[in-house]
Amino acid sequence: MPIYEYELVDGDCRACGGSFELRRPLSRPPLTHCPLCKKAVRKVISGANSPRITKPLSVSDAKKAGFTVYEKRDKGVYEKQ
Ligand SMILES: [Zn+2]
Repeated sequence: MPIYEYELVDGDCRACGGSFELRRPLSRPPLTHCPLCKKAVRKVISGANSPRITKPLSVSDAKKAGFTVYEKRDKGVYEKQ
């Protein structure tokens, strides 16, 4: 399966860090939105095939990797986890 690299079209994402890589079968249509934050993404065309660190793709993985994940609390307050 080819690995595709995606980046956010606008803004950033605390979960994916604004860009991520995804293995996807050729038969599937290109991803249009981040699976975590649902923001629009575009495929990054990269000719280089060098090994890269793949960013975590789930919130629990993001927490394990040291990302700060915000969860919505009562009264609209965002509390650092
Ligand atoms: Zn995202």
